[in-house]
Amino acid sequence: MSDQVKKLLIITSGGDAPGMNAAIRAVLRTAFHYGIAVYGCQGGFQGLIDQDIFLMSQRDVANCIQRGGTILQTGRCEEFLQKSVRDKCRQHLEAWGIDGIVVLGGDGSFRGALLLEAEGGPKVVGIPCTIDNDIVGTEYTIGFDTACNTALQAIDKIRDTAFSLNRNFLVEVMGRASGFLAVDVGIAGGAEFILIPEVPVSTSDLIQRIQKRKRKKLASIIVVAEADNPGRSLNLAEEIKEASGIIYKVCILGHIQRGGEPTVKDRKIASLMGNFAVELLMKGISQKMVAIENDVLTPAPFPNTHVGTRKFEDADLLRINEVICDVM
Ligand code: ADP
Repeated sequence: MSDQVKKLLIITSGGDAPGMNAAIRAVLRTAFHYGIAVYGCQGGFQGLIDQDIFLMSQRDVANCIQRGGTILQTGRCEEFLQKSVRDKCRQHLEAWGIDGIVVLGGDGSFRGALLLEAEGGPKVVGIPCTIDNDIVGTEYTIGFDTACNTALQAIDKIRDTAFSLNRNFLVEVMGRASGFLAVDVGIAGGAEFILIPEVPVSTSDLIQRIQKRKRKKLASIIVVAEADNPGRSLNLAEEIKEASGIIYKVCILGHIQRGGEPTVKDRKIASLMGNFAVELLMKGISQKMVAIENDVLTPAPFPNTHVGTRKFEDADLLRINEVICDVM
């Protein structure tokens, strides 16, 4: 096929997510299988601007499947929003002879890469990576399972103290616009309440529900998604104390949720998505994201700019959790 990709560039952009390396490895190995040369772009779109691009060898992905973060490094790059800057990048890519790009990242990174192709650049396929699992069009994003397990391990440790000292804890997890992480971690960690951006609960309502608990618990854990206000659990603990006298200790998990060795699920899905991305390009398909729909890999349109992030909608899960925790 004349439009067959011959030189492929891999970019990791936006926030890092555990499993990105497994995906990079799978893209490179699959491309090599088909005789496609692979280039790495260092540090996200900034690497395109700076031409921080290098020809990759098998050795570049050796021993990386178990590592968190991204061996290509990532970043955010304001400049890339300017068409004149992207035009320059396109010229660089032409000079390198690059005719395909696999971009690993989230909505923003896909938007940038899509513009590059739409403006006459190489064919682009995206692989969704974010611990928030909130990209519209896919049921799963690389990094989510690892982040859940990291947060869960932390909660298990907090439980030891909560139980031993009879203490209540607010545990704040990531999730600016979506509660997927909080819900899964909350259910698996035995949290009494799970507070997510999609289901706002007033402090007075929360206090009422805490006080209405049927069973006198020795210690209680509430999982709080950071929402648009990281650190909000500190204020929440203050408000609860002032209004009810009930003391909650606060633990903000922060960036530890982003790092660490990817789990089996993340390594496996990242490997399959990396392979699938190259297969799509081999079939001449581009401007698509590798998605999971009904547990099956499928090409999906890049998320619409205006839709925003995917929202957690299964409110019944929260209700079931409260039944299990005997607070309803
Ligand atoms: P994520 O990919 O995780 O959603 P960001 O939204 O921060 O992360 O986007 C990562 C990078 O993608 C930005 O720093 C910028 O370089 C590029 N990008 C985002 N939005 C656009 C856009 N509308 N046009 C061009 N590039 C964009």
